[in-house]
Amino acid sequence: MRGKVYLVGAGPGDPELLTVKALRLLRSADVVLHDALVTEEILRLTGSSAQLIDVGKRVGEQRLSQDAVNQLLVECATWATTVVRLKGGDPLIFGRAAEEMAALRHAGIEFEIVPGITAAVAAAAQARISLTDRESSSRIVFVTAHQAAGNGRTNFADVAMEKCTVTVYMPGGCYRDVSKQMTAAGLPAETPCLIVSNACRENQELLWTDLGGLQRLSPPDAPALLIVGSVTRCRDEALIAPLLSTYNEAMEAIR
Ligand code: SAH
Repeated sequence: MRGKVYLVGAGPGDPELLTVKALRLLRSADVVLHDALVTEEILRLTGSSAQLIDVGKRVGEQRLSQDAVNQLLVECATWATTVVRLKGGDPLIFGRAAEEMAALRHAGIEFEIVPGITAAVAAAAQARISLTDRESSSRIVFVTAHQAAGNGRTNFADVAMEKCTVTVYMPGGCYRDVSKQMTAAGLPAETPCLIVSNACRENQELLWTDLGGLQRLSPPDAPALLIVGSVTRCRDEALIAPLLSTYNEAMEAIR
């Protein structure tokens, strides 16, 4: 008899943002294979007899290859009834789910997808901005700054469009590229941008800037998400006030 594999979205990090179905599966899973992005608080919700396997962990400098993860997933389904493959955010957005589903189909293993809240949606909620706006943004782009080896580099000029919100996943070393390529493609250097680092976690940070400012930025901690577009213009005073008072307190302390 073979088990069933669930590709489950863990959302951005806050356990309250899990779906009810994700929570039920975490509690009943025999084995949970999770990414490095999944927070401790969420892993603590797994049943006491569940085996946890961190497939995002680096061993020395080496990470398990995607092929090895696919193989492990197939193997787990030969001895476990409920296998949860737990991914940060939504499993179908920059989560290598296509490769895992192909391996499961090839092995004839039953599987199901349980969606999660993706980083762009979580980041927008935390900053209290709307990703679309009837006046100023009628489309959203999800783009990754990192491509699989051999696929070349992302060209951000391709996504420099008017009335569009661009959400950049894994922006890591690419803030300058985004700035240069999008301004060269015609967007003003004053186009507002927002970076949300560790969205929905204790150490969340919000940073408002513009395309020009991305050139001079000291990059915030990972995981971080960059949002480019006029919808990020709105800085919510209620969010900024506590940040300012924390800053003022810190300044006070070192005076
Ligand atoms: N499947 C995930 C994305 C995986 S790619 C999802 O749907 O969200 C990893 C990238 O997602 C990170 O480099 C970062 O850009 C973004 N990300 C994931 N969790 C995040 C968080 N809590 N805060 C900010 N960005 C996050």
